[in-house]
Amino acid sequence: RKKFLSLYDGAVYKLGIMLGLIILAVLLISYSVFASIQSDQTRLEVATKKLKRLNKKLENVSYTDSLTSMHNRRYFNLVYERELKRAKRTHSHITFMMLDIDHFKQFNDHYGHQDGDTALKAVANTLKTTFNRPDDAVYRLGGEEFGVLFSANNEEGVEEISQKVLDNIEALDIKHEYSSVSNHLTISIGAGIIDSTNTQSADKLYVEVDSALYEAKDSGRNSYEILTI
Ligand code: GH3
Ligand code: MG
Ligand code: MG
Repeated sequence: RKKFLSLYDGAVYKLGIMLGLIILAVLLISYSVFASIQSDQTRLEVATKKLKRLNKKLENVSYTDSLTSMHNRRYFNLVYERELKRAKRTHSHITFMMLDIDHFKQFNDHYGHQDGDTALKAVANTLKTTFNRPDDAVYRLGGEEFGVLFSANNEEGVEEISQKVLDNIEALDIKHEYSSVSNHLTISIGAGIIDSTNTQSADKLYVEVDSALYEAKDSGRNSYEILTI
């Protein structure tokens, strides 16, 4: 009986040690699995953040014109209708202005594309500094054409800023001997002061402002045409 009891004790002791070891092994394995899941999660979070940052950068690049660093047509399309709707909602006027450099084809033909690019950049910078209020937004709509969305509710205000643009562009004094308008670079402007009660579609309003720009071209260029619509 004594022998049996001592054998029994030994077996229980061994079993206890084995169980302890198994529990320890399970704990160690669980800990290492948990730690690896946690580190994977941290890596995943870091990678997700990086991806988000890169996406934002990519989005900014796709909305920015590389020559002038202005927002491009793609971004304008995104903002244009939204701003018209906002003006309607808040019963405020919004002015949409289109600007196009005069005889820029001749400029490129005679001075070369590189000088053309330099002139475009100078015009873009002038527009940025002329429209410098926090709510003013200037876009390069394409080629040598720019667009501005800003709030101005009376014709005098829009006339004043239009004249300021013409003056500031002329003050750049960029030689353009082959222009029929002047011996330096000029720009033409079409603007529409859009009333909040106007029910025309954004596309129709765009066409109206474009036609104002063409009237400014027709009337001799280096001038502006303002519509209240
Ligand atoms: P208008 O006074 O009627 O506007 O005549 P324009 O010659 O300015 O107009 P047109 O549409 O005939 O020509 C636009 C020119 O703008 C043609 C093109 O070579 C030039 N242009 C467009 N984008 C760029 C650009 O990124 N860089 C340069 N250098 N030129 C450009
Ligand atoms: Mg032009
Ligand atoms: Mg043009």
